[in-house]
Amino acid sequence: MINRSAPVFIAGHRGLVGSALVRRLTADGFTDVQTVGRKDLDLRDQAAVDAWFEVQQPRYVFLVAGTVGGVYANSIRPAEFLYDNLMIHGTVVQAAHRIGVKKLLYLGSSCIYPRHADQPITEEALLSGPLEPTNEGYALAKIAGIKLCETYRRQYGDDFISAMPTNLYGPGDNFDLEGGHVVPALMRRFHEARLAGEDSVAVWGTGTARREFLHVDDLADACLHLMDHYSAAGHINVGTGIDLTIRELAEAIRDLVYPGVKLEFDSSKPDGMPRKVLDVSRLSEMGWSASTPLVEGLTATYDWFLEAGRRGDLRL
Ligand code: GDP
Repeated sequence: MINRSAPVFIAGHRGLVGSALVRRLTADGFTDVQTVGRKDLDLRDQAAVDAWFEVQQPRYVFLVAGTVGGVYANSIRPAEFLYDNLMIHGTVVQAAHRIGVKKLLYLGSSCIYPRHADQPITEEALLSGPLEPTNEGYALAKIAGIKLCETYRRQYGDDFISAMPTNLYGPGDNFDLEGGHVVPALMRRFHEARLAGEDSVAVWGTGTARREFLHVDDLADACLHLMDHYSAAGHINVGTGIDLTIRELAEAIRDLVYPGVKLEFDSSKPDGMPRKVLDVSRLSEMGWSASTPLVEGLTATYDWFLEAGRRGDLRL
């Protein structure tokens, strides 16, 4: 177990995952959770990151910062996704090493796996085939992050570990219609269609792609579990092990937000990976499994969206 009174830095605390981690650690009794805003520290700048670590002296680090987005944002901004993430992973890992951080958890993504990986995807599938082209830049940066943790462990003995989450959703997500991921984008599109009384709602792609969705509070819980109990070189998949088609997901969101409205599939938009479901047996052997059923998680996320909208607090 990691020490609840030691200083813990959450790199990326404003994002979907970082904000869930702040909630989780606070609830778990951590007394010294460190965060820093983008305006005050550019995580791509090694000298600035080194200086920040020098002053703050975190003992534990959750590296969950990055430039992220959905299938469309990835396909039109591949350079930013590659550069920003490569730099952020490099600077934070190096700074953590430099001051002798006791343990660091790096968060990757299931898009690191080859497009045609066998499903469910085991950890061993990494680097066994070509990547999905729509998110290659992001995936390469994420793979480099895993390798950074592994090589710092091998060369310097640093206790740096990696977790690979499946597609995430939950409170604090980015509800931008173009740049965001499928759950928040559809939730907002169905919501606005209901307000405008429209009789159909657009869903990108063919609806046949399959995805697995994990509530971000479950991910935060898994990250803490790994920080407390796991210490080895291999990256660990985090998911539910259950997937569904985008059509089924869209129907579930429709039933929640705007029952009865027609779905219009727009096949001019990319499907991305045909299927992406993780084999989560390693993590379950370590005694952790997800606990939020999808419909329950979607309902809570929609409630949060409505509430945040009323407060004027949405990332759009
Ligand atoms: P991905 O797992 O990186 O592809 O993440 P996304 O959340 O961006 O997309 C997942 C799937 O949902 C893809 O097959 C998309 O084509 C599909 N999808 C359907 N409607 C939307 C939408 O409005 N926004 C996004 N981002 N994806 C959508």
